Amino acid sequence: MSLIWPVQIPPLKDELLSSWLVRASLAHGCDPMSLTSAVWPTWRAWTVDIDRTLDETRLQSLCGSSGLSIDELRNMTLFHHLDGKILLIGKKSSSLPWVIAMGSRNRQHKMGVPYCPGCLRMDEPYFRWQWRLAWHTYCPLHHHELIECCPSCNMPVQYHRVSAQTPHIGICFHCGYDLSSAVSARVEAMQTDFQKLASNVFWHRGSRLGRQADIIPRLVFIGQTFTQSHPTRGIQRTKGTLAFRGFYPGHWN
Ligand SMILES: [Zn+2]
Ligand SMILES: [Zn+2]
Repeated sequence: MSLIWPVQIPPLKDELLSSWLVRASLAHGCDPMSLTSAVWPTWRAWTVDIDRTLDETRLQSLCGSSGLSIDELRNMTLFHHLDGKILLIGKKSSSLPWVIAMGSRNRQHKMGVPYCPGCLRMDEPYFRWQWRLAWHTYCPLHHHELIECCPSCNMPVQYHRVSAQTPHIGICFHCGYDLSSAVSARVEAMQTDFQKLASNVFWHRGSRLGRQADIIPRLVFIGQTFTQSHPTRGIQRTKGTLAFRGFYPGHWN
C-alpha cells in the first residue's frame, strides 16, 4: 500500500492528469518518476501516454495516495473528455483519434505537449487538456498560436522529465528556459475559423454522430474549403501543423 501524500494538490481548471502529477511531484520536492514509482511500484507510468486513460486498479492506487476521488482523477484523462464525442460511446480508449500522439520511447517523447505562453503566465503554470487535441492550434483566450517546442533549445516540451529542483512545471526540462517567456505568433482571423468549426463539429454535433467515419469527411470538407478559400499564410501554417500532427494524412489541395 502506498503512502498518503502530505500535500494535497487540487487539480486546476481543464488540467491534464500528467500536469497535475508533475505539479504534485514538485510540491513534494521530488521528480515525477519518484512520485509515480511510489504510487505504482511495478508500472513505469511515464513510458506511456498517461493522459489517455488509467484503469480502475491504477486509479484506486492514485486515489489512495493523493486523497482525490476516483472521479476527480478520471476527469483529468483525455478519455473522459472525448468519450461519446469523438469516440463512440463505450469504445476502448486504446486509440484516441484526433489526439496528438506523443511518440513515446522509454521516457522520451518525440512530440511535445503544445502550450500557450500567455496561459502559462496566468497564476500557477499548468497544461490544459485541450492543447492535446490535434485541431487546436491556437489559444482562444490569448489569440496566439500554441507552441510545441522550447524556443531556446528546440526540444519537445516534456515536463514529466523535469528535476525535483525545478521551480514550476513551465520550465524546459532540457535547458531550463521558462516557457511562459516564449513569444508566439498572433493568429489571423481566418486561421481561427477552422478550429472553431472543427470544435463545433465535435462538441455540439458529436452526440448525434452515429459512426466515427462520419466525422472524417466533414472535417476534410471544412479543411479543404478553408485552404481553397483562404490561402493565407496563417491557414497554410495551420494546415502544416495539422498535417505534422497526423490530423490529416497530407493531401489538402
Ligand atoms: Zn492562452
Ligand atoms: Zn529548452
